[in-house]
Amino acid sequence: MKIGFIGLGNMGAPMAANLAAAGHEVTGFDLTAPCPDGVTRAVSAAEAATGAAVVITMLPNGAILRAVAAQILPAMDPGAVLCDCSTVDVESARQVAADAAAAGKSALDAPVSGGTGGAAAGTLTFMVGGPDAAFAQAEPLFSVMGQKAVHCGDAGAGQAAKICNNMILGVTMIATCEAFALADKLGLDRQKMFDVVSTSSGYSWTMNAYCPAPGVGPKSPADNGYKPGFASELMLKDLGLAQQAAIAADADTPMGAAALELYRRFVEDEDGRGQDFSAMLPRFATKGRG
Ligand code: NAD
Repeated sequence: MKIGFIGLGNMGAPMAANLAAAGHEVTGFDLTAPCPDGVTRAVSAAEAATGAAVVITMLPNGAILRAVAAQILPAMDPGAVLCDCSTVDVESARQVAADAAAAGKSALDAPVSGGTGGAAAGTLTFMVGGPDAAFAQAEPLFSVMGQKAVHCGDAGAGQAAKICNNMILGVTMIATCEAFALADKLGLDRQKMFDVVSTSSGYSWTMNAYCPAPGVGPKSPADNGYKPGFASELMLKDLGLAQQAAIAADADTPMGAAALELYRRFVEDEDGRGQDFSAMLPRFATKGRG
């Protein structure tokens, strides 16, 4: 299949490389990043989109997505699909879908879970919003770049699933870290804490699969000096998107709001920037109640 790929950063480059390695004809564009092996470089986003059956975008945020969509929609073939895999606000996803439909094209919001490791290994999970026909057209590509694609509903449903998932992730990471720090102060050994909680009703992905305590549980960024992984500032971005959506939808999300405030403080006022989001544990461990 002829594919345009715009945004060849930490996630986009390995995703595009996997598509090329699977035999697809991939033309890529990025403002700064180089093209990975097997991907032909275009001089503009519009050139990358020209003649493609599916155009994939993997960009930093909704404002950039909307700007890029305005450049590429006129260049795309009728019937082509714009498949945005970035994590952006639900409103931007819906706006791009409406603009695509008005231009006689279709759009999917298809954010991913699995991080840079999943992107390189081709094991991402895609959560997808948009029309059935567009999903069917992009599905062979999801199966190259990932291991699972869930068609969640209409435009915006993929982004809704992503921000709800990551709101749970942020809240549970904080809960896991503050519980470890409390356990420390109560004199409980961290390994014993893990042995109990990981097999009791406090278990979670953050405890069992991504334990924030170094040397405890499976290997995680905590065992690598809290090098990301999933950076605290990306968690802050996703918690912000969740609160933006909650305000727009009049949803009461007090835990999500508290998690946003804690990650904002951690990233902006403390030393969280550039550290994995599980570095909340040393943060709590070195603080008292004051
Ligand atoms: P990144 O910053 O490494 O890559 C983004 C790329 O977009 C950069 O190379 C940048 O030059 C390019 N870009 C920006 N504006 C552009 C434009 N107008 N035209 C063309 N290219 C442009 O970011 P990333 O880590 O690859 O993340 C991309 C998206 O995926 C984000 O929305 C992020 O939230 C999401 N995501 C990231 C992860 C992760 O672990 N890194 C996991 C899941 C989802």
